[in-house]
Amino acid sequence: MPTINENFLKLGKNYLFINIAKKVNAFMAENPDAPLIRMGIGDVTLPIAPVCVEAMKKGADEMGVKETFRGYEDSGSGYDFLKEAIAGYYKKFGVSLELDEIRVNDGAKSDCGNIVDIFGDDNIVLITDPAYPVYVDSNKMNGRTVIYADSDESNGFAAMPDSSVHADLIYLCSPNNPTGSAYTREQLKEWIAYAKANKAIIIFDAAYEAFITDPDVPHSIYEVDGAKECAIEMCSLSKTAGFTGMRCGYTVIPTALHVIASDGTDVSIAQIWGRRQGSKFNGVSYPVQCAAAAVFTEEGQKQIRKNIAYYQENAAIIAKTMEELGIEYTGGKNSPYIWLKCPKGMNSWGFFDYLLHEAAVVGTPGEGFGKNGEGWFRLTAFGDREKTKEAMERMKKLLS
Ligand code: PLP
Repeated sequence: MPTINENFLKLGKNYLFINIAKKVNAFMAENPDAPLIRMGIGDVTLPIAPVCVEAMKKGADEMGVKETFRGYEDSGSGYDFLKEAIAGYYKKFGVSLELDEIRVNDGAKSDCGNIVDIFGDDNIVLITDPAYPVYVDSNKMNGRTVIYADSDESNGFAAMPDSSVHADLIYLCSPNNPTGSAYTREQLKEWIAYAKANKAIIIFDAAYEAFITDPDVPHSIYEVDGAKECAIEMCSLSKTAGFTGMRCGYTVIPTALHVIASDGTDVSIAQIWGRRQGSKFNGVSYPVQCAAAAVFTEEGQKQIRKNIAYYQENAAIIAKTMEELGIEYTGGKNSPYIWLKCPKGMNSWGFFDYLLHEAAVVGTPGEGFGKNGEGWFRLTAFGDREKTKEAMERMKKLLS
């Protein structure tokens, strides 16, 4: 009989959103006619931009013609046409990237989880709490020691480094899921200084960069000096361009990023990640890469900005409702998430049940993102406008 990786037994039995789905399904079984409004899972609702659809169709047509058909991609790290488009996008923020510093993937979740493969199990991993659950789960699966930096009311849910604590790997997510907080240039400077002092590597998740409105908040960590020597950046078209069902993202590993192995060998992180991906990943489908490249065209940017503006307006509606109800919240400004303090002193799951049963509105209990999420709750702005407004009316009725 094979043995299993027993670290899996130490994880919560289900991924957070599976637990939510179970509760919602049970509620719907009891109340089949309930007019449910889902503001829980961070999935988008608007269709992908017409330029992306056209580009994908053209890519699909090419696959059906002998002369233009494409099989396995040589590198599996993305076609140059898409990497050039991504590099062009970074130029807007004053960041210059070589094409071989970019690897295209099937969305940020895979790389956020898989990147741990190239790091030793003895690393100390620092994760801000609350956090996107993938960071904690994927490290615990390998039995790594995870330590936490508290993001709470005292720091506006944006944890800052503690020089008395050592870490080797640091996960930062800005704008943050779930709290909606976003690091300024000055705050990222402190994290970079901390990483350098600890010879640590930052894994910077920029999945929500397209929602940034504040000029002090960088879209890329590489906008801050020194980041190329200590940071990996992950980004995704899921929230930027509605690609949650398309699956495309990218990871940037600067060539300047190196570590010294135990035998003194100088190791390029990009090289070993490329080695890992070469054995375990065969690239993203050609039509999807065509659609992804269309996101970065002038017309593509215009069309995706329209959808992002729609979600931002939803976020403003939710934020205004929280203000009217006198409920404390963060986010909504550089982020599609509103992170609110559960009213009436309820805990996260208590408020989840209350909102579900009394208003048929589904949100996400903050506790599911870590201990500092207890007593807090996440609502997403990715929904339909009318449903968002209706949900806010129901919350006003329930909580006024
Ligand atoms: N990173 C963060 C912070 C997220 O919230 C998500 C998805 O919700 C992802 C990464 C993964 O997105 P995807 O795999 O769709 O690119």
